[in-house]
Amino acid sequence: MALEQLTEGIRRIVAPNPSPLTYHGTNTYVLGNGRVAVLDPGPEIATHLQAILDGLGTAETVAAILVTHAHLDHSEGARTLATRTGAPVFAYGPPQAGRSAVMETLAAEGLAGGGEGVDASFFPDQVLGHGTRLSLGDWAVTALFTPGHFCNHLSFRMGEAIFTGDVVMGWSSTLISPPDGDLGDYYESLDVLAAENAQVFYPAHGDPITDPAARLAELRAHRAARTEQILATLADQGPATTTALTAAIYTDTPPDLQFAARRNVFAHLVELEKAGRVSATPTLASEAVFMLCPSG
Ligand SMILES: [Zn+2]
Repeated sequence: MALEQLTEGIRRIVAPNPSPLTYHGTNTYVLGNGRVAVLDPGPEIATHLQAILDGLGTAETVAAILVTHAHLDHSEGARTLATRTGAPVFAYGPPQAGRSAVMETLAAEGLAGGGEGVDASFFPDQVLGHGTRLSLGDWAVTALFTPGHFCNHLSFRMGEAIFTGDVVMGWSSTLISPPDGDLGDYYESLDVLAAENAQVFYPAHGDPITDPAARLAELRAHRAARTEQILATLADQGPATTTALTAAIYTDTPPDLQFAARRNVFAHLVELEKAGRVSATPTLASEAVFMLCPSG
């Protein structure tokens, strides 16, 4: 793969890590010309990191490395690239930064992630909060705190475009896997992105999204339908575990995506428990027994 010019000031190169969760692979974006920013260096694949550097013009240098979130397919190559270029890594914080209160509690009680590739050793050189502007070349971005898929997730606004990482993608809805993912945070992040009224979204996987408002509405509707499906299944079948609910709902999901489906269903159950529509026995946990509340 080589750097491909998408529009003035935005180049892209796709990392060679295709999978059922990454589509064709991770999009690494290069912002600006001259003193550029590399957004999501991708996994630690030597040929990919080399291709990013080889794709730059002879007079160009990397001034900043921006990371949307601490999943290996986005952040793992950041440290190597930083060492090779001297550019600092910018992100919201370490992997646990930005966790919601309910997810802090679940994590403290021992809930492990779903094995979807947390970059446990990730750390930024400099942290960016919501609304922070950064410009180290002929480009400028504003960080938008957008947790939900992952607690330390940032999106980056540049002009009329937003780089949305894994929060909004064109090819698939996003994985929400507690305790790193939180459905309530995800809904709020969709609101944050909607309020920006941007013209185009550049996701970390898949093609640019040219009608952001429509895509945001579609994603919200998809989650609302899933919530209704979970409530209807509980009404039909009575109390059930996450695994039983997933088996009843995701009947045509291939085996390699069943784990992701279970994490998503659990994320919905956490949100329903918070809203007082389901209860968990004995306590809120991924393999608790969930039942409708009388008023739910
Ligand atoms: Zn991710």
